[in-house]
Amino acid sequence: MNIMRAGFEILTPISHDGIDEMKHIERIGRVCYKSEDRITEDGESAKKFVKMLIDRGHEAMIEHSSLSVRFTVDRGVSHELVRHRIASFAQESTRYVNYSLDKYSNEINVIHIENGITLDKKMNNMDANTIAAVIEEWERAMEDAEKHYMKMIDLGATPQIARSVLPSSTKTELIITANYREWRAFFKLRISAAAHPQMREITMPLLDELKKRLPVIFDDIET
Ligand SMILES: Cc1cc2nc3c(=O)[nH]c(=O)nc-3n(C[C@H](O)[C@H](O)[C@H](O)COP(=O)(O)OP(=O)(O)OC[C@H]3O[C@@H](n4cnc5c(N)ncnc54)[C@H](O)[C@@H]3O)c2cc1C
Repeated sequence: MNIMRAGFEILTPISHDGIDEMKHIERIGRVCYKSEDRITEDGESAKKFVKMLIDRGHEAMIEHSSLSVRFTVDRGVSHELVRHRIASFAQESTRYVNYSLDKYSNEINVIHIENGITLDKKMNNMDANTIAAVIEEWERAMEDAEKHYMKMIDLGATPQIARSVLPSSTKTELIITANYREWRAFFKLRISAAAHPQMREITMPLLDELKKRLPVIFDDIET
């Protein structure tokens, strides 16, 4: 069994300071106002224009650009991610992937719960011994699940049947492509204190990175 940390990778190339992306939206949005004459080559007009669109709630214009992000999360978090309907998905299949094969190191991969515990308001004040005991119990359950999965495959079960015993902690890779408007709606829901701690474990650093690489588009969303 391989225990991993959750993570993400932004797959869409983004220009320096997101200037090209903002220029693209400006070029489109200025058609509404017939103000193309105000476009400046240095991108300064684009920054101001895109900020104005977002401040006014004219977010239909930012639907003209999209981002693809690869998430490495557990199956529980992935179930929540795929509820976002204005997005496109590709996900590692537990029907077609056979974790008993050499290609997959003959083991299951699970996402560690430790960072989630740290972000869980009801658990983060627990003493270290209690947290260690919780984690140990979880690890034992993961090992048991792996043992039963491998045994079922040995007995002739297909991966799509044996997956029934895979835990929620099973690592999955999920690629989400969505336009900027949907990503904004997504972050507002998925970084909030009400969101699942293991969801926040990835959405907060992802939003921080996007704020750096694509300023203006995500600046107003508070982490
Ligand atoms: C804290 C939290 C707890 C949750 N708990 C549960 C739970 O217990 N059980 C459960 O089933 N789900 C739960 N969810 C999931 C939730 O119900 C939504 O499915 C999920 O958050 C996606 O939100 P959305 O529909 O706004 O977003 P998206 O599907 O990403 O849609 C984006 C926006 O598009 C618009 N839109 C999309 N589809 C339609 C439509 N058909 N009609 C009109 N407008 C539309 C809406 O404005 C929507 O906000 C929870 C979510 C959160 C954040």
